Amino acid sequence: MGLHTTDIIVLRKYPFRETSVVVSCLSDRFGKLKGLVKGLRQQPNRYHSAMEPLTVNRIVFYDTLTSSLHLVSQCDLLDPLDSLQRDLETMRTAAHCVDLADTVLALEEPQPLIYQLLRDTLGRLSLDPSGRVLLRVHFVTRLLRLIGFQPQLDTCVGCETSVEVEEGFWSVSEGGLLCVRCHSQDPRAESVNPETLKALKLLAQSDAPIAMDDSLVQLLSRRLDAFLQWRLDRPLKTLSIR
Ligand SMILES: [Zn+2]
Repeated sequence: MGLHTTDIIVLRKYPFRETSVVVSCLSDRFGKLKGLVKGLRQQPNRYHSAMEPLTVNRIVFYDTLTSSLHLVSQCDLLDPLDSLQRDLETMRTAAHCVDLADTVLALEEPQPLIYQLLRDTLGRLSLDPSGRVLLRVHFVTRLLRLIGFQPQLDTCVGCETSVEVEEGFWSVSEGGLLCVRCHSQDPRAESVNPETLKALKLLAQSDAPIAMDDSLVQLLSRRLDAFLQWRLDRPLKTLSIR
């Protein structure tokens, strides 16, 4: 049994028995964790944080070899990110990012780049919510790349030959580009222009959003929503933000 200190972003919080809570959180060093905070509902003053979703905290936890539910012995609020609550759309965008991270990440696989990505995204959103659609498009694109879930946009998903961008069709139901010969596999696949693909590649590689045309951002947002709906096992409650 070991004792660890780590910074975390709370993804979800559930009541546990009469007095306690269980939190799902993303940590800087240990990846996604589940932690039990005993007595938090009965004696909130015992801890220096209410462990609300979308807040950044420093916790001390015991790891047990028998369970993936760790016992959290201390929690201190580092950043409440209060500004995320300023309006409904900002709140929904933040909730969507957290929901997606909670859905796609496996427990206890260290993901320091994804922790930083989520923390940066929530921080940027709290400072300036006007670019929230671009922030979300960047977050989703970069997250999918970091976990290896990204759409296949270099080679045809039907025959694996490389596709000239000018002749490619983006198929939602096939998860990437189809070449001219394979287009019949999904007649609903739409042609895609080089600018769109270039923007996606740049966003996937970048630690920060890149300024681009609003119409392109809206297009990417719709395509990524459709891709997530196809790719994820369960639908996200927070999908379809406009
Ligand atoms: Zn093909």
